[in-house]
Amino acid sequence: MADNPSTNPEQNPEDYDHALRPKLLKDFIGHDKLRENLSIFIKSAKKRSQPIDHTLFYGPPGLGKTTLSQIVSKEMDVEFHMTSGPVIAKAGDLAAILTNLKSRDVLFIDEIHRMPPIVEEILYPAMEDFSLDLVVGSGPAARTVRIELRPFTLVGATTRLGLLTTPLRDRFGIDFRLDFYSTEQLDLIVKRSAGLMKIKIDPGGSMAIAKRARGTPRVANRLLTRVVDFAIVEGDGTVTKSLAEDALERMGVDLAGLDSADRKYLNIIADFYKGGPVGIETIAAAMSEARDSIEDVVEPFLLQRGYIQRTPRGRVLAPLAWTHLNKKPPLNQSLQGLDI
Ligand code: ADP
Repeated sequence: MADNPSTNPEQNPEDYDHALRPKLLKDFIGHDKLRENLSIFIKSAKKRSQPIDHTLFYGPPGLGKTTLSQIVSKEMDVEFHMTSGPVIAKAGDLAAILTNLKSRDVLFIDEIHRMPPIVEEILYPAMEDFSLDLVVGSGPAARTVRIELRPFTLVGATTRLGLLTTPLRDRFGIDFRLDFYSTEQLDLIVKRSAGLMKIKIDPGGSMAIAKRARGTPRVANRLLTRVVDFAIVEGDGTVTKSLAEDALERMGVDLAGLDSADRKYLNIIADFYKGGPVGIETIAAAMSEARDSIEDVVEPFLLQRGYIQRTPRGRVLAPLAWTHLNKKPPLNQSLQGLDI
C-alpha cells in the first residue's frame, strides 16, 4: 500500500531485513510457546537424522514467518531454498526445484496460497512420499514417470490460511499461527536492532517506537531506521524519547500506531457510511486500493485492536474508532452492526 511506506508491514526493498533478522531460535523474541515447541521438533528430528515435518507458518505480514523458516534450516544445519507461490508457474518449475534439494534441506514457499492448482497437485506426492509423478510426452505417447526425491522439509508461509486448500493444509504436520507482538516484545526487538545498527537509544526512545509499531517487528525495525535518520541529521545520533516522538509525528504515525492508510480507512466508513456496515469492495474502491492488500495489511491490526468489527453485512466501526477519530457515532450506529 502506497499510503505510508514506513508503517506498511509488507516487505520493502529498503528494509534492513537481512542484517536484523535473528539467525537462531534463541535470538527470536516473543512467541515463547512456539519457540519451545519448534525447538523440540528440531531436536527430535536431528536425533532421528530425519528432516523436520512439513511446517506451515501463518499470520499477517512482517511477524517473522520468513525469519522462522530460515531459523529452522540454520538450526537443522541444512541448506535453505526460497521461492514463492506466484513465482512457480509450471509443474516443471517446481520439479526442477525439488530435484535439486539435498537430503533434509528446507524449501520455503512464501505466499503458498497463491500457488497455481496444477503445481499444488505435484506437491502432494512430493510432500507425502518424497516422489514426483511427471507426465512426459503428449497424446497416446504420454506416460507417467516417477522420480524419487531426497527427504526434505517444506516450510510454507501464508497471510491467508483460509485460501489454502484442505488437501494442502492437511499435508503439513506442524502449523504455527503468528500473532501481533506486545509493546514490551517490540521494545526488546527495537533495542536489539539498535544494538546491531550500533545506534545509541534511550529506553524512552525504544518504547516510543515500540508503541507505534502496529504490533509488527518489520514495522518496528523500519520506524527505527527512519527515526535514526532524524537523530543523525537533527540530533547527535542518539534516539531519545522526544526525538523519536517528534520524528514519528512528522512521519504521520499517531500515538496508537495508526498511519494515514488506517485513518483513511476509518474515516471513509465514518464519513461516507455512517459507521457501516459497508462491504470490503466498496471500501477498497473508495481508498483506490486492492481488496487483498486492505484485508492483509490494514484490517488485521484494526480488528485485533478493536477499531472495527467484521459482520456478514460488512465492516462496522467499533466505539474505539469513533473515540480515536474524535467523531460522534450516529445515534442508531450501535444497532446497525447487530442486525445480522
Ligand atoms: P514475514 O515473513 O512474516 O513477513 P519476516 O520474517 O520477514 O516476516 O520478518 C520481518 C523482519 O522482522 C525480519 O527481518 C526481522 O528482522 C524482524 N523480526 C520478525 N520477527 C522477529 C522476532 N521475533 N524477533 C526479532 N526480530 C524479528
